[in-house]
Amino acid sequence: MSVPEPAGGEEAKQAKEAEDAEKFSFMATVTKAPKKQIQFADDMQEFTKFPTKTGRRSLSRSISQSSTDSYSSAASYTDSSDDEVSPREKQQTNSKGSSNFCVKNIKQAEFGRREIEIAEQDMSALISLRKRAQGEKPLAGAKIVGCTHITAQTAVLIETLCALGAQCRWSACNIYSTQNEVAAALAEAGVAVFAWKGESEDDFWWCIDRCVNVDGWQANMILDDGGDLTHWVYKKYPNIFKKIRGIVEESVTGVHRLYQLSKAGKLCVPAMNVNDSVTKQKFDNLYCCRESILDGLKRTTDVMFGGKQVVVCGYGEVGKGCCAALKALGAIVYVTEIDPICALQACMDGFRVVKLSEVIRQVDVVITCTGNKNVVTREHLDRMKNSCIVCNMGHSNTEIDVTSLRTPELTWERVRSQVDHVIWPDGKRVVLLAEGRLLNLSCSTVPTFVLSITATTQALALIELYNAPEGRYKQDVYLLPKKMDEYVASLHLPSFDAHLTELTDDQAKYLGLNKNGPFKPNYYRY
Ligand code: NAD
Repeated sequence: MSVPEPAGGEEAKQAKEAEDAEKFSFMATVTKAPKKQIQFADDMQEFTKFPTKTGRRSLSRSISQSSTDSYSSAASYTDSSDDEVSPREKQQTNSKGSSNFCVKNIKQAEFGRREIEIAEQDMSALISLRKRAQGEKPLAGAKIVGCTHITAQTAVLIETLCALGAQCRWSACNIYSTQNEVAAALAEAGVAVFAWKGESEDDFWWCIDRCVNVDGWQANMILDDGGDLTHWVYKKYPNIFKKIRGIVEESVTGVHRLYQLSKAGKLCVPAMNVNDSVTKQKFDNLYCCRESILDGLKRTTDVMFGGKQVVVCGYGEVGKGCCAALKALGAIVYVTEIDPICALQACMDGFRVVKLSEVIRQVDVVITCTGNKNVVTREHLDRMKNSCIVCNMGHSNTEIDVTSLRTPELTWERVRSQVDHVIWPDGKRVVLLAEGRLLNLSCSTVPTFVLSITATTQALALIELYNAPEGRYKQDVYLLPKKMDEYVASLHLPSFDAHLTELTDDQAKYLGLNKNGPFKPNYYRY
């Protein structure tokens, strides 16, 4: 289902957006801010324009793909796996005497605080939002229940939301990705966090439930990554939606579920699709993968790329990032595609477009990033040469038919964490990384700066939904207004000392644009 568009086409939509933006005080700040640089000190007083709010899959389904596919983006440095006692059995209190949390070990809080402080250094846009909150707080009265990865970077987001006035209760969207020390630091700071690395499936749902099902506290906003929290509330506590002002969802999977709910007429609150914000997409998919593909491959295999033959399946955003990185290191890169437009792009970028079967015998590395299933089949795996490395950068572990490798004639040897040698009867080995799950999220870290962009977009989406006047958003799925996307980008420009050119009046008239944006129509592809 498409994102709802007001009648009258693109121009009418943008005019409406601009009009809405004017009504929304935060957007007014953005509209009136000089485009060259965002002056945080000046903007701070604009924040006082916010209205202050003082009042106001079946359960037996296994954990969602995102819960298991996207492992830790930064392994916990204090994974006390030797401690066999479940956090659920432990009695812990923070230094203020609160036990309104459940983490692995509250004593790790100090170390976690240092991790958060390191992350803050590369999340300047979020920190600037936080500074603005010294005035009237745009999330005052917001009770946000969140389910995301719990890492140093998301901790910066959570603490920003608290600084903007929100109360937060948080669980992890992934059973492996929690940085225990960071969860401890959040708990020490007073956030009701229920998460630890290595939760069981039962723990996973228990933690979500502890965030939602609380005496004397009812959420009025949801921030979800993967849709599991939303799903839980729908199944167990549908009444909560009477108070919920909106859902902000980050992942492809979660957004897909929201559109399905909307299509079935079951979405009962407005929802923001953060995943499809331009800044989020480009940074998460293209630039992030351009950097992290090499990190993931090197950490796991120590491979040298110069002269290696690599085939990348899918030349979308992720594929383009992977190809660019590999080419830069001197690899010979082949691309497979089903879409003639992406295939032609690959040709123009200097890559040979082939069928996987044409190169499968000769390549040293196979990388999937299609979002599809069974792209690498058992037949392909049978034909690969000895020591071929196989990995996936797509969302779910369906791209490589790993199940077909679990047969008696093949031997699996775990050689390193997240690295398996699958050995054929003739001695041939295929090096399978992260059992076909997302390589970068499983085996490397994701740059903090990328997460800053996503987190800033999430924070703005929450502010927008929470402060939107009655009726602005219906029970449907929305994209953030383009101006907000541009705003997120502009907040990150000072990190690079980048100086934007300002349109002259004459130029603005010539192009038919507002001098302060939006600068592109919604259908523009960056
Ligand atoms: P995209 O739609 O831009 O690109 C996917 C490409 O794969 C498309 O061009 C499509 O035509 C092609 N394709 C589909 N089936 C194919 C097949 N059988 N053979 C060859 N090509 C095929 O999507 P994207 O933004 O590049 O994302 C791709 C996947 O990566 C998604 O699953 C997404 O969720 C995931 N993702 C991963 C990360 C990460 O950090 N690893 C980040 C963002 C997105």
